[in-house]
Amino acid sequence: MLMEEVYINKKLLWLRKEWNKMPELPEVETVINYLKQEILGEKILAIDVKNLKFLKNASLKEFKDQLENKILKNIFRKGKYLIFVLSNDAYMVSHLRMEGKYFVDHDLINRKHDYLIFQLSNNKILSYNDSRQFGTFYLTKNLDQLKELNKIALDPLDEDFNLNYLYNKSKKSKKNIKCFLLDQSIVSGIGNIYASEILFDAKINPLVQADKLSKEDIQRIINSSQKILKKAIEYNGTTIHTFSFGPNKTGEFNKFLKVVYREKKNCFNCDYPIKRIKQQSRSTFYCPKCQK
Ligand SMILES: [Zn+2]
Repeated sequence: MLMEEVYINKKLLWLRKEWNKMPELPEVETVINYLKQEILGEKILAIDVKNLKFLKNASLKEFKDQLENKILKNIFRKGKYLIFVLSNDAYMVSHLRMEGKYFVDHDLINRKHDYLIFQLSNNKILSYNDSRQFGTFYLTKNLDQLKELNKIALDPLDEDFNLNYLYNKSKKSKKNIKCFLLDQSIVSGIGNIYASEILFDAKINPLVQADKLSKEDIQRIINSSQKILKKAIEYNGTTIHTFSFGPNKTGEFNKFLKVVYREKKNCFNCDYPIKRIKQQSRSTFYCPKCQK
């Protein structure tokens, strides 16, 4: 094997490892925005489930009985779970895990790895595609009773995500602030890419212990979290690995990354070289001069 090939293979492996938590909150929000435009108000006429392992708490019969001939009234998100609201007040709760994707087509396309196919009114077809088959589907009449949803912490776009909440949590944590932000029991929805970008924006060193940060520091982190996630949603998420939604649509936020992937390149603020370190075996990118 040529040296370049070894290098390319290593780089690909590294990319896979780095981004294997995809999709993150902005990607899920992007998928929801796409689905709302395409299928809200449509009736589910028939469902074809090609692999029953995706249905976690319902039999095929229950799944079809609850969802067929019902209208899709709304779609929203809790953490990274997509919640479809049906006209009989049942909820279909879907998690994409690593590679789940939704497509809306006007013809039946026999795409590889399409496992759930929803025939909708107006000749629309909603397909759930998942090459890794890690995705999950739940059915419930009461969201409070679904334990998967109960353990999800607030995310930065939740109304109750405020200084009081995050400062109290930070005072009890000896973790460094990067790993603190990745702890899904404290904050949901901030993945590895966004954690580095948020801390750069807030000018906080990723190695600082969470309980050492001032109220002002925490407020800056909150502001930056909301700013970065909203911007990522605006640009349809970050496409690094396989995230995509709908036909030929991919995210563009990666054009706006300021530190991630910029190891040894000059900081946009101060020209100092961006540094890459490992925290909990995942890469963190930061500017040692701007983030003291
Ligand atoms: Zn800098």
